[in-house]
Amino acid sequence: MKFSEFKLSPGVFESVEAMGFEEPSPVQEQVIPIALEKKDLIACAQTGTGKTAAYLLPLMNHLEENKSDKIKGLILAPTRELVLQIDQQFQGFAYFSGLESVAIYGGNDSAIWEQQRVAIERGTNVLVASPGRLLAHINLGYVDLSDLEYLILDEADKMLDMGFVDDINKIISFLPKNKPRQTMLFSATMPSKIRVLSNTLLKNPTEISIEVSKPAEGVLQAAYLTYDGQKNKLISHLLAEKELDSVIIFSSTKIKVKELVKELQQAKFPAKAIHSDLVQAEREEVMRDFRNKKFPILVATDILSRGIDVDNIGLVINYDVPQDPPDYVHRVGRTARAKTTGVALTFINEADQARFANIEKLIEAEIFKIPNPAEIGDGPAYDPQAPSKKRHFKKQGNRKGNFQHKKKAGPYKGNRKPRTSNK
Ligand code: AMP
Repeated sequence: MKFSEFKLSPGVFESVEAMGFEEPSPVQEQVIPIALEKKDLIACAQTGTGKTAAYLLPLMNHLEENKSDKIKGLILAPTRELVLQIDQQFQGFAYFSGLESVAIYGGNDSAIWEQQRVAIERGTNVLVASPGRLLAHINLGYVDLSDLEYLILDEADKMLDMGFVDDINKIISFLPKNKPRQTMLFSATMPSKIRVLSNTLLKNPTEISIEVSKPAEGVLQAAYLTYDGQKNKLISHLLAEKELDSVIIFSSTKIKVKELVKELQQAKFPAKAIHSDLVQAEREEVMRDFRNKKFPILVATDILSRGIDVDNIGLVINYDVPQDPPDYVHRVGRTARAKTTGVALTFINEADQARFANIEKLIEAEIFKIPNPAEIGDGPAYDPQAPSKKRHFKKQGNRKGNFQHKKKAGPYKGNRKPRTSNK
C-alpha cells in the first residue's frame, strides 16, 4: 500500500514524502482511513509500530482542510519525553502545512512554564501535553479549549498507571459538550481500566489491534541468570568485549541507575544516567548528546522505555527484570526499530524469575539463558515455578549455545527512504 492511497491533503502528503516514509506501517494502514473519517477509535499498539504518525497525519489533515487559529486538537501523553517526541514529529509533518503545536510538560523550570503560558496565549492548532501540567495551566484560566474537536490519548495505560485518571477526567470536563469530537485512544495494553475509560470517552469506537506484545522481528533476545552481586561485573564484561555503539541499560530504580553509572564511570566506560532527579534541561541535554553519539552508554530508569525515539540502539541491557511484562517489550523496543537489528539482554536474579516467566508467556517465546562467562561464575538455576521462599539455588551446569531467536511476526514492516527535502 502507498501513502497516496489515503488521499491526504497536499501539505500533509508532501511532508510524509519528505520524511522518507515509503509505505504505511500496519497500524497506519488500519488507523489512518478510520481516523480520516473522523470516527472514534481505540488502538492497541506499542511504541515502534508507527502509531504516532498514525494519529498525527489524519489529525493534521483535518486541521489543514479547515484552517483556524484556535486550539482544535489535544494530545495527552504520560511523560515529558513522549510529549516532546510527539511534538517533534508534529513539527516534522507540519513543514509544508504550517500547522503549529505547543508542547506542555511538567518540571521545575519557571522559564519553561512561562514559555508554555505565552505559547498557549499566543494561540496554536494543537496542544501536546502531559495531563498534570496541562491541568495546572487550565486552572489559571487562559487555556481556551472551547473549539476543541480532536482528542488523542497516547499510551493511555501508562497514564492510568501513573495515576492521571482524575486529571484526564478533569481536563475532559473543560472540553466543549455540545460539539462533535473525535477521540482516539492508543494503549500498549488493554487492561479493564482502559475499557472503562474508553466506554466513558469514545462513541462507537472501531477497535484496532496490532500484534502488540512482541518485540520487533530483528531483536535477538537472551538472558543471564545472575545473583545481584554478579551484575556489575557482568556488565563490565559485556561492555568491554563490545565495540561500543549505542547501548541503553535499564534499571527499575533511580538509586540503582545512579550507583551503576558511577561504577561504570569509575571503570572508565563513557556512560551517563537519565532519571527523574535530573531537571528537564539536564535530561534533554543527556538525550541530545546520546542521540548525537557524544557518549555511547546510557543508563536509564523505565521512564525512558516508552516512546523515546533514538534510532540504532545496538544493545539494550535490562539490569533487572521490568515490573510489568509490557515494560519488557517497551525496553526491548528501543532496539531494532524500523527493520534494523539489535540485541536485548536481561539479567535475572532469583527473585525476578517468576516475573521473567510471565514475560516469556506474554511474548510467547522462551528466551535463551546464556551461560555466565567463566570469570563471573554460575548464577542461580532457572526455576521460575519454585515458591520464592523455598527456592534452592542449584548451581547451573555447563550450558552451551548461542543466542536463540524465535522468529515472530514483528509489528513493523515499513521502509524508509533517504530524506529528499531538508527541513
Ligand atoms: P512510533 O511507533 O510512532 O514511535 O514510530 C517509530 C519510528 O518509526 C519513528 O522513528 C517514526 O518516525 C518511524 N516511522 C513511523 N512510520 C513510518 C513509516 N511509515 N515508514 C518509515 N518509518 C516510519
